[in-house]
Amino acid sequence: LLQLSAPLFMLGMMYREVKQALTNMERLFGLLDERQDVRDADGAVALASARPAVRFREVRFGYDPRREILRGVDFEIAAGATVAVVGHSGSGKSTLARLLYRFYDVDTGAIEIDGADLRALSQSSLRGAIGIVPQDTVLFNDTIGYNIRYGRPEASEADVEAAARAAHIHEFIVGLPDGYDTPVGERGLKLSGGEKQRVAIARALLKNPSILIFDEATSALDSKSERAIQGELDRLAVGRTTLVIAHRLSTVMDADQILVMDAGRILERGTHAQLLAMQGVYAQMWDLQRRQGEEVST
Ligand code: ATP
Repeated sequence: LLQLSAPLFMLGMMYREVKQALTNMERLFGLLDERQDVRDADGAVALASARPAVRFREVRFGYDPRREILRGVDFEIAAGATVAVVGHSGSGKSTLARLLYRFYDVDTGAIEIDGADLRALSQSSLRGAIGIVPQDTVLFNDTIGYNIRYGRPEASEADVEAAARAAHIHEFIVGLPDGYDTPVGERGLKLSGGEKQRVAIARALLKNPSILIFDEATSALDSKSERAIQGELDRLAVGRTTLVIAHRLSTVMDADQILVMDAGRILERGTHAQLLAMQGVYAQMWDLQRRQGEEVST
């Protein structure tokens, strides 16, 4: 009986591991328990461009057909440029990212990459070209080395280390008793919010994507870590077409364009300076955040 139950026990463990890994993947975008009905078109082509331009053309979309979330969104991220999206909670910012990754198809309008409709591209090439640094990085119950290598499983140890160095987490890792072999995740070492984001940045660096989606953390990092992470992200974004979902205005000041979303529409757009000069919603938000910042620091 013992001989039989050991393999069964192992099988049970493996099943849980696999299920956990899948759960982690889905949690990445809050997609748990959701249908994925996006399919490759016949004759889908691979995305080839190393510096693609991304275009949202009058995009309308609702998770439920009775409730429209994006109500005609039109903007372009020029090749290699950074567009940041700000706006109230629920205005549809993260939905833009989910559509770009093609977790869902738009209802009307189109998303284009270098003029090609997303729906005509193969999903594997699209998702291979997009790197995501999510709001809350989910770590697999595995070693920290594995968690970084996940960005490109065939990467060499030297590549993993180079990515960790660039994300400023290498020193932290080699200081751990088991270094890169230290188990992390729910059953291992718990990393801080900033450390997790660095793992995500290292992952993205390894993947070397031409399009980058950065969903900024809502949970406040201390301002020193926030500045450091911002610096690492800025470097990661150089030369890549980048969409930033921003929760703090202080981090979007240098974006090539800022979109202010409100209830599924773009209310204002421009650079930081242009938006301040407009004295509209963005300028009010900026004022408010600055005053709140002052309160915190006094
Ligand atoms: P936040 O700043 O809080 O992250 P957001 O601007 O990113 O908000 P979205 O996550 O894009 O907002 O959500 C926009 C709207 O879509 C919300 O009203 C939300 O309830 C709804 N929504 C988001 N995801 C789903 C989903 N998977 N199924 C149904 N409705 C959803």
